[in-house]
Amino acid sequence: MHQPNLKEAFYALGRVPDCPVYDLHAHMGSYLGISFPRAEAPDMINAMDRAGVRLLVFCHHHTLHSPDIGNAVNVEAVRSYPDRLRAYCGINPNYPDVIAHDLDAFDQYPDVYVGLKMLADYHAYALTDERYRPAWEFAERRKLLVLIHTWGHSLYDGPEVVRKVAERYPRTTILMGHSCHGEWDKAVALVKDFPNVYFELCAVLDERGVLEKFVGETGSERIVFGTDLPWFNHHYYIGSVLGADINDEDRHNILHRNAERLLVRYL
Ligand SMILES: [Zn+2]
Repeated sequence: MHQPNLKEAFYALGRVPDCPVYDLHAHMGSYLGISFPRAEAPDMINAMDRAGVRLLVFCHHHTLHSPDIGNAVNVEAVRSYPDRLRAYCGINPNYPDVIAHDLDAFDQYPDVYVGLKMLADYHAYALTDERYRPAWEFAERRKLLVLIHTWGHSLYDGPEVVRKVAERYPRTTILMGHSCHGEWDKAVALVKDFPNVYFELCAVLDERGVLEKFVGETGSERIVFGTDLPWFNHHYYIGSVLGADINDEDRHNILHRNAERLLVRYL
């Protein structure tokens, strides 16, 4: 009997129970200048169900851009859907007092946080800036995951900046959101040089051949899946992984096994 491959199985049902998807890069809530059809937690959970997404790790837009609201919205959403959501504690370097408060409170939320999120390009301080230091040192002491937005040629979070923090904080697991988009060779060099650095695929899959390059150069065990939901659609990104010229073992690693390994202490 023909065993369906992953692509056939996803195409038949839209989701595959044997291949649960872990989305390690998501957001939540409204955003300036764009309409999202699925921005709130209940709608996001519906979208996850349709695509077989087992768990979503996010940082709410309001956390990142409205310091008066801060991380409270992350806590509320995760506690409403404890089986499906985890959050990154958002770090905004424009508000050092808020950072100090949030790090002090971090241990009250072992059911909520898996690590920290930094959005340096938007907050306009480099990842190496002194304002980020307390957060990096906190993550380093606790061996946390830190999801950083990265983008090619950025002075705030481009590959040269990522290299400095990867060197400085070897016990921290650094997930390179968007994998230094456009400077692919430098992203590959970072993953080769630092065992604590991972690729993350959101926006990477807008270019054909890049995922094949990552897998060809470093294997598939240091790549995690993410979508920036509600910005992008799960089926679009899952389809891009299914359509890439890699094998089903690689797809299992990328869609769930690597995330299961990284999150084992939290779930
Ligand atoms: Zn993002």
